[in-house]
Amino acid sequence: MAANVFEECGRRGWPRGDPLVADLVLMMELTMSWSNRRSLGAAASFALALAAVSPAVADDVVNIYSSRHYDNDEQLYAGFEKATGIKVNRIEDSADVLIERMKSEGQNSPADVFIATDAGRLWRAEEAGLLQPSDSEYVVSRIPDHFRHPDGEWTGYSKRARIIFYDKADVTEPPQTYQELADPKYKGMICTRSSSNIYMLSLLASMIENDGQEAAEAWAQGVWDNRARDPQGGDTDQLRGIVSGECKIALANHYYYVRGVAGDVSGLTGETDKIGWVFPNQETTGTHVNISGAGMAVHAPNPENATKFLEYLASPEAQEYFAAGNFEFPVVDDVENAGPVADLGSFKEDTMNLSKLGENQAAAQETYDRVGYK
Ligand code: FE
Repeated sequence: MAANVFEECGRRGWPRGDPLVADLVLMMELTMSWSNRRSLGAAASFALALAAVSPAVADDVVNIYSSRHYDNDEQLYAGFEKATGIKVNRIEDSADVLIERMKSEGQNSPADVFIATDAGRLWRAEEAGLLQPSDSEYVVSRIPDHFRHPDGEWTGYSKRARIIFYDKADVTEPPQTYQELADPKYKGMICTRSSSNIYMLSLLASMIENDGQEAAEAWAQGVWDNRARDPQGGDTDQLRGIVSGECKIALANHYYYVRGVAGDVSGLTGETDKIGWVFPNQETTGTHVNISGAGMAVHAPNPENATKFLEYLASPEAQEYFAAGNFEFPVVDDVENAGPVADLGSFKEDTMNLSKLGENQAAAQETYDRVGYK
């Protein structure tokens, strides 16, 4: 009888090594030996049980398209598999590549969940019609409003702050706000990455929302005029610029600094004592924050499992893994900041709904372009 089960598994494309299938085989063997001794009615009961179990086995996967690939993400996926019995299949690539892939796969896309860093990238997926609303009450109850798309198309599951870093030896009065970065007293001192980078677009998008288009454009012009060098490299390179003395002030996401403190980052580790940081706009709008987040794919073949995965991301256990994987901050109240991230201290954040970052993304790029910000 067990051999027949394996044949059936092969016919249906179920993995014979799958623990669920192994359990099924074992259950069938036990039931049949019992039914041979007792009654044929047991065989009928088993057939009903099989009918109930089979679809669950066939459907017990969730396909994740992720542009995150941090070590702790392994714990995240393993934790989900253990908690639910649902197998996680992953495809990892850059957000833009995954978006193109989902577009070309169309209705046949196996993607159930799309994961990306930065609300601006989630917005790009949303704009391309690749996501669908997910209305889990658990997620809504756990995650603050400003980290969730108004229609539920995506949700933020960890947060990052884009903050001001400075050379402690040379800068005695570091800027306390983003707006001050445009003050001519910082001429020749400021390093940023290029204006086409999503972090720079999201920051300016938030300023367009908070301060208006005109003020945001004047700000972009002022920061460009204060540059220490033309934009180059990633966030870590801005921090390295402070260590080398080329930059006195820089903008970077907080976790690039923490990686330098906690890990082994060439040109940064062992040098982080030279760098000070400011959480900007504590007296006004709060510090600009962004997210790593996820949404359900529009053609998700396993929508219920996708919902379970999105709910798992909001759980205390997953919040620890998801945030710690990239030295980010959790977004729920019942998980503490841990390790070197906690040493940065607490801060007031801007509570603007992050969907605004996507809505203002094109205006932000046009603004940078108009002032010649490379
Ligand atoms: Fe990053």
